[in-house]
Amino acid sequence: MNDTPRYTRLSGLEPLVITPQLLFVNIGERTNVTGSAQFRKLIKEERYEEAVEVARQQVDNGAQILDVNMDEGMIDSEKAMVRFLNLIMSEPDIARIPVMVDSSRWSVIEAGLQCLQGKGVVNSISLKEGEAAFIEHALKVRRYGAAAVVMAFDEIGQADTCARKVEICTRAYRILTEQVGFAPEDIIFDPNIFAVATGIEQHDNYAVDFIQATRIIKQTLPHCHVSGGVSNVSFSFRGNETVRAAIHSVFLYHAIAAGMDMGIVNAGALPIYDDLDPELRERVEDVILNRRKDGTERLLEIAERYKGKKGEKKVEDLEWRSRSVRERLTHALVHGIDAFVETDTEQARAESTRPLDVIEGPLMDGMNVVGDLFGAGKMFLPQVVKSARVMKKAVAYLLPFIEAEKLRTGDTATSNGKIIMATVKGDVHDIGKNIVGVVLACNNFEVVDLGVMVPTQTILDRARAENADIIGLSGLITPSLEEMTHVAREMQRQGFQMPLMIGGATTSRAHTALKIDPHYAAPTVWVKDASRAVGVAQSLISRDMRAAFVAANEADYAQIRQRHANRGDAKRLVPLSKARAQKFDGGWDHYTPPTPARPGITVFDDYPLTELIELIDWTPFFQAWELAGRYPAILTDEVVGTHASELFADAQAMLGRIVAEKWLTAKAVFGLWPANSVGDDVEVCLLPVGEGARRASPGLDPGADAGTTEPAAIEPLRNGRTLTPTPLPEGEGLKATLHFLRQQADKPADRPDLCLADFIAPKDSGRQDWIGAFAVTAGIGIEAHVAGFEAAHDDYNAILLKALADRLAEALAERLHQRVRTEFWGYAGGETLDNQALIAEQYRGIRPAPGYPACPDHSEKAMLFQLLDAPGNAGMSLTESFAMLPTAAVSGYYFSHPGAQYFVVGRVSKEQAADYARRKGVTLAQAERWLASNLDYDPE
Ligand code: SAH
Repeated sequence: MNDTPRYTRLSGLEPLVITPQLLFVNIGERTNVTGSAQFRKLIKEERYEEAVEVARQQVDNGAQILDVNMDEGMIDSEKAMVRFLNLIMSEPDIARIPVMVDSSRWSVIEAGLQCLQGKGVVNSISLKEGEAAFIEHALKVRRYGAAAVVMAFDEIGQADTCARKVEICTRAYRILTEQVGFAPEDIIFDPNIFAVATGIEQHDNYAVDFIQATRIIKQTLPHCHVSGGVSNVSFSFRGNETVRAAIHSVFLYHAIAAGMDMGIVNAGALPIYDDLDPELRERVEDVILNRRKDGTERLLEIAERYKGKKGEKKVEDLEWRSRSVRERLTHALVHGIDAFVETDTEQARAESTRPLDVIEGPLMDGMNVVGDLFGAGKMFLPQVVKSARVMKKAVAYLLPFIEAEKLRTGDTATSNGKIIMATVKGDVHDIGKNIVGVVLACNNFEVVDLGVMVPTQTILDRARAENADIIGLSGLITPSLEEMTHVAREMQRQGFQMPLMIGGATTSRAHTALKIDPHYAAPTVWVKDASRAVGVAQSLISRDMRAAFVAANEADYAQIRQRHANRGDAKRLVPLSKARAQKFDGGWDHYTPPTPARPGITVFDDYPLTELIELIDWTPFFQAWELAGRYPAILTDEVVGTHASELFADAQAMLGRIVAEKWLTAKAVFGLWPANSVGDDVEVCLLPVGEGARRASPGLDPGADAGTTEPAAIEPLRNGRTLTPTPLPEGEGLKATLHFLRQQADKPADRPDLCLADFIAPKDSGRQDWIGAFAVTAGIGIEAHVAGFEAAHDDYNAILLKALADRLAEALAERLHQRVRTEFWGYAGGETLDNQALIAEQYRGIRPAPGYPACPDHSEKAMLFQLLDAPGNAGMSLTESFAMLPTAAVSGYYFSHPGAQYFVVGRVSKEQAADYARRKGVTLAQAERWLASNLDYDPE
């Protein structure tokens, strides 16, 4: 008996089950050449890497399905579809969600279907060419195991009235379910959204027709879905984004109520229905619902007012200071203003019976407003963190009074629950964890933050001592995944029962389900980002919600495990020997690798920060604050523009102080050495003593100033502070070996299975090649300033400073790489690229970083640090899990070959893991630990 509920089940790498609770599934549309001029340009110019970024952005912005369309006269659509899909299929954070293969040509759809993993959607099939073609296509869709969008289109044409829409969809439904054997839940009707307010009277009822047809279709054709391209409806207001967004919002409000449950929308740019200016909303509603004859004119009348309204400057308004103290506290909390908080808190205290009443009364009321607004998507992270600063300052002010009161009465405050938070042993990253902590504290959870690099037993002992309700673990680098599994095992062994929350950049739902949850009987829940933390914590603690939440979570994880166990062998790995035979061909017969202008090691003790500011890539900065969008467009974004601009202004102000007051020191070291590949290894030949270390001043001609100093750098063992599992081999001059991994994907013969070693001339080619390495930091001196902010209860500025130090380190990596290409290695002397082109990596050569997908083994950083003497030369060190300290740091290799590219090693076989272990001179178990997230087999 199969009593699984009849839901649409799509999938990328992760399932998407369309349950009624989802309400509305949004389909990302930017990867569509007909809908996006930017994407069309990228595809036409074959800039596929950037095109992949567009897809990633869609996923980051919350798309649940990705629509891909390559229908353009000048593009070989079939080829482009295949190439693009294959690229995104190897990006796990994109391939996570199902793909909608969108084309008006069946051959393109079929080519696309053959690239998908999981269960996708075809967009679209219809009765346009009659029943026979429709049935033939539907049968094929069924055979490929996809769902399908069915357009309300028949032999006569596209349906515009409600009656026609219903008639065609009903006919298609009958054919599909009765003749083709199509599952009704795999049918997604698109009853055509057409533009309203065009000035043509026959168009006035188009939105109403769609909404009514949707209601009937959903009522009469069981299990199916209704979707549509929402932006069509506002087509006549092109150029007026504010009005268009309002139209979309109002249209969706009514269409969703009628049963529309999917749609192509730019979800990031959708205002909240309730937030619309009431006058605008009313006039839009008149148009959408066709409520009055003059609707269009009346909307046009006011539309101009909303044009270009974005960048207006705000004047400081202190009217709120004249309100009651309660209202003032709420206002300060919601707006994150800390200037008056102590005065107001004191006044509130003087007016209350107990100091605690101020917290439990006005302050909590204010924070509840903040929590509600954030939960409803009406407030954003930077504001919440600022609100928390106000709260913390108020609480800090009250604390001495509360302590005194407690001594008298034994009274204490009540919280929603107590949460122990820690970044696990070996990991040092805490921006994300701190943000989550702040958001939880704002929602009246008591957060005990144990900091970074916290050993398991410390976490567990403290959780017991505090009688905590939940433990939250965070980690950024892949070795932390293993450490989290260890914590879960220990919790089980030591009889813990409190729920475990897992979060951080490298964690995932799948990893939590497969590798952590099975080791711990109590609930283990992955938390995607700070905005979900409160909901999860509340559900885990609340008596009413807990059982249902835990059951749903368990079911979800069980399903992931089931899918993993059932994983077909379609994507089998090829044997290592076959992958090696299919290596990248560097054309060594005809290619002479460039010789560096400045071989050996070069050190910058104090790199000028001013030179870095213009090279900052700001987009990741906004991501760190969970503001979605690209810089600089994000500053004028409809939804987050004002918040992004405020945050950006704060960042600029702090950057000014960082430079002027020398808060941070940036250091860098890089080396360029002769090298050749031997199989998947690269042998590095350290230069003879005397030609090695130089100290350089930036900006000056390297030849003139480069002081050749002590031969320190070529005696990399000098500094005992580095960690290394593989000592440098003795003898043979000084040689070191770098170990790389190879893809083992089953690819056609003309596409190589890549390994970074392929980009270095093989020893037996007779060519002398070179490899580079670098380590940079911008975090020297940060601790004192972070501690200062934290002591002042100012998490906002503490997090801001860390985020800026990270940006400066990335900018230094960019700058150094640029100078290496143009000056120190000098193979790209004529290169002139602006910051945007640098961020888009339009230069020759790459700088892969250990721990990233082309070289996922973090432990290789040990060798890198040793070669560079990063501790001695740049003040950098590694933790036992190979996280870098200071945290604002970047390290990696330099490859100069014009064909060098980033790729994803992906899964490797046990055979390769064993081979890799042998090459590194470590045990298989050790290698497995470092490769855990790449392993194709379960080592347990
Ligand atoms: N401008 C960005 C740069 C960081 S992301 C910022 O300021 O944050 C790009 C870097 O990540 C690359 O320079 C490289 O060092 C690393 N990287 C990206 N993809 C990689 C891959 N597949 N393998 C190895 N390293 C990769």
